[in-house]
Amino acid sequence: MLDTPQNYTGNAFTSIDFDKRGRQLGFISFPHSPHDDAWGVTQVPIGVIANGTGPTVVLEGGNHGDEYEGPIVIGELARDLDPGSIQGRLILMPANNVHAVRAAKRTSPVDGLNFNRVWPGDGMGTITQQIAAYVSQCIFPMADAFLDLHSGGSSLDILPSAIIEPTPDPDLHRRNVEAVRAFDAPYSVVVANLGDQRTATATACRAGLVTIGTEMRGCGTVSLDALEICRKGVRNVLAHLDVVEGGGVRRNDRPVLELAGPSAYVYAPVDGIFEPFHENGETVSAGQPAGRIHQTWDITAQPVTLHYGIDGIVYGKRHPGRVSPGNCCIVVASPYGQRA
Ligand code: CA
Repeated sequence: MLDTPQNYTGNAFTSIDFDKRGRQLGFISFPHSPHDDAWGVTQVPIGVIANGTGPTVVLEGGNHGDEYEGPIVIGELARDLDPGSIQGRLILMPANNVHAVRAAKRTSPVDGLNFNRVWPGDGMGTITQQIAAYVSQCIFPMADAFLDLHSGGSSLDILPSAIIEPTPDPDLHRRNVEAVRAFDAPYSVVVANLGDQRTATATACRAGLVTIGTEMRGCGTVSLDALEICRKGVRNVLAHLDVVEGGGVRRNDRPVLELAGPSAYVYAPVDGIFEPFHENGETVSAGQPAGRIHQTWDITAQPVTLHYGIDGIVYGKRHPGRVSPGNCCIVVASPYGQRA
């Protein structure tokens, strides 16, 4: 067991030596004592590849357990990347919310928690809170940059995009935008999660790390185009950070978009089946009908029409047809910095 930082409040341990050169693949082990395993551990997979001198970059996948492109790409890097080809250190964590990953669920089946709503975590909390605490207290202090590779999960289909986490630090914001442009996804989008600070990327920004998120389609499956965008984007960012040879990184100069607060979201007002009127990427305007909800079990019920709350493009769409009140049916992305 290696030393952990003095302020680490948990009791996880690992055989990984973060100061060692070369490739190491292993686990962070969190003592966990459920009914059927009194003295067992929850094993969160981790790989470290280090060589020469350069920045430390943390790559997270499996923050939600039903989002697959990022974890596939992180696993490929962990197994296949030649340590001699990098300058710096990669900390590769493809399945951080490991119980949710094994269950292919957004939230952990162990404690019911959404890993991306518990940061900075609690070393003495539930297992999901403990994993977040380890990353924020032990991993982030070693790091210069953080990539949090999400997709839309089981309930959303999202345009493949690199995500900018808002930060009040103007210099960090500039560096985050540069890194997101270097990722070169089809879309670059500022996503504030309605101001929620309990996310991995918000915590990484508070720690001063260059922070890049992604959304890579979704629908609880692997999308071929998004997987290739993710593979290339991660390589592009590592080249941008001078960890791998880039041969001249290109940074796209397409307009940055944002999810501009509550008006970007179209929520279901009633139970039923959601019929969208537009596909992802289509231009829409405030007040325009966005779709209808049908109560197909009641032949007398008129469909309920939903409307967009803002001008922009359809950025994400609910995947399952069945909706209940409050479900997110559509998300609209607007030009960044133009909110009314
Ligand atoms: Ca996600």
